Amino acid sequence: MPGPEVEEVKSRLNIVELVGRYVALKPSGQRFKGRCPFHPDDTPSFLVSPDKGLWHCFGCHAGGDAIGFLMKIERLSFPEALTRLAHELGIEMRTVGGEGKAKLLQVNQEAAQYFARELRKLSGKKARDYLLGRGVGEELWERYKLGYAPEGWDGLIRALGRVGLDTLGNLGLAIAGEKGHYDRFRDRVMFTLCDDQGRPVAFAGRSFAGDPKYVNIPNTSLFTKGTLLYGLDLARDAIRQRGRAVLVEGY
Ligand code: ZN
Repeated sequence: MPGPEVEEVKSRLNIVELVGRYVALKPSGQRFKGRCPFHPDDTPSFLVSPDKGLWHCFGCHAGGDAIGFLMKIERLSFPEALTRLAHELGIEMRTVGGEGKAKLLQVNQEAAQYFARELRKLSGKKARDYLLGRGVGEELWERYKLGYAPEGWDGLIRALGRVGLDTLGNLGLAIAGEKGHYDRFRDRVMFTLCDDQGRPVAFAGRSFAGDPKYVNIPNTSLFTKGTLLYGLDLARDAIRQRGRAVLVEGY
């Protein structure tokens, strides 16, 4: 690191659009001008040069490229900022975050797709009826990555067989029992928990009847309980635009 993604992100990114999410910019010759978000600025003294891909403030002398801007304004590390921008641009990361993490995220992605497929099957009818009965229409199922974990003990394990039981166990999707591994989620409506970049990091399953009402994934290398707001990946732009957020309990 930095890998080849850095140049690709920089060359494809529109710095005016990125900075413009946080700062009202007006054209000024070849450049764009606005009030600096990093110091109280009446002038305005904040300039963005799209041709150079750089920004600079003549008031507080902060400056840098697009990745640096995102790091500063969102208080991110370099890999975090780079990963987020690469994700937005659909650039696959090869060097940041580690191969291990990328692989685990991929497995979770496949698990989410499996639960989504099961929801559409004949056996998923009661999950569909449950969601519709709670006012969660079909148009939301894909957006929120909702699904169904069917009855039985190893549906997911068989569907993702090549992944390996250790990996499924590490992700909390399978449990090691005396007679072998079995699916953690059985006959449940499934919720996919995504990080703020929309990547599936964990799952929760709601029962139709009986206890426990919710089964959650334990802490894994992708997920720590109490550190994630459900749906934030979908709500963050609207929260930023409106300047407010409504927080409710539950999924
Ligand atoms: Zn400034």
